Amino acid sequence: MIQRISRLKAALPELTELERLIDEGSQHMRIRVPAHIQHGEDHLPFYVIEMGSTRKDAPVLALVGGVHGVERIGTQVILSFLKTLIRRLRWDPAAIEQLHRIRLVIIPIVNPGGMADNSRTNPNGVDLMRNAPVEALQRTPFLVGGQRISPKLPWYRGERDKPMEPENQALTDAIHHALKDQPFCMSLDCHSGFGTKDRLWFPYAKSVDPWPGIDSAHAMTELFEYTYPHHDLYLFEPQAHSYTTSGDVWDYLYDDYRTSQPNGCYLPMTLEMGSWLWVKKNPRHLFRYHSLFNPILPHRQQRILRRHLTFFDFLMSATATMANWAPTDALTQQHHHMAALTRWYPGR
Ligand SMILES: [Zn+2]
Repeated sequence: MIQRISRLKAALPELTELERLIDEGSQHMRIRVPAHIQHGEDHLPFYVIEMGSTRKDAPVLALVGGVHGVERIGTQVILSFLKTLIRRLRWDPAAIEQLHRIRLVIIPIVNPGGMADNSRTNPNGVDLMRNAPVEALQRTPFLVGGQRISPKLPWYRGERDKPMEPENQALTDAIHHALKDQPFCMSLDCHSGFGTKDRLWFPYAKSVDPWPGIDSAHAMTELFEYTYPHHDLYLFEPQAHSYTTSGDVWDYLYDDYRTSQPNGCYLPMTLEMGSWLWVKKNPRHLFRYHSLFNPILPHRQQRILRRHLTFFDFLMSATATMANWAPTDALTQQHHHMAALTRWYPGR
């Protein structure tokens, strides 16, 4: 038993760090464990942390990581932000004030079993980002778009007509409840492993056609690029510019949100950290599966943990003020919609 626990601790340092941060910052947090995820003989906690305003209509920012277990850097980036936030709350009234203007929902480790196994999928072999009940509107690329052939092949969606996997049920329940009464909300889901540039993706994954919320994606992109002209790390674009898939959880949650809030403004984003750059700089990455998705040199890991703090800070402020910049009247919506088509769909 003791051996099992110490093996698990060694396999999941991120969970240990999360629980340490919960201890350190508990006075600012409302903590829930709505599910335990089975992993061999263990049941791993699925944590949902809420901070900030308890007002029913406070704008919501959700930060999510560890959907793909092997992409640990996504979880680490969120924990690094959380650590800085907790420590600022000890001495900085501006941080306290900023936090009170929004409701922050953090789910740092969606797939603890997959993370313990250094695997992309959950312990049942299902790719959680292909597992939602959403079908692509056009033909998707073979395998990558999601497949039901076998859990032994990558991008397995799970069996047809089965409920979502327990991790996804806990994730979609938590996000559904956090967003259902909110006119303004954003989420950021942190991944790694695609391309050489850090991408900020917005929906849809299921279609190459412009997403209905593209006006708000454009307004946010413009706001960030205008405010941080020297922080040009990110490629803002629709996910479908890279590839389309079935079963994307954020497609599912966006459509779910719009059903209950047809006039609400929800901007779900995915940060896809471009790990191929790390591989290019250090080909040793090629020899271990885990290191295709995560920086292996300490100085590079430190750099990545620093790199995204600016964007997280921006998201906190942008969520609090979303009513001011998100397009809500028909004229502004049309302006941003046209500008988005010019930027992302030239020739359309
Ligand atoms: Zn991923």
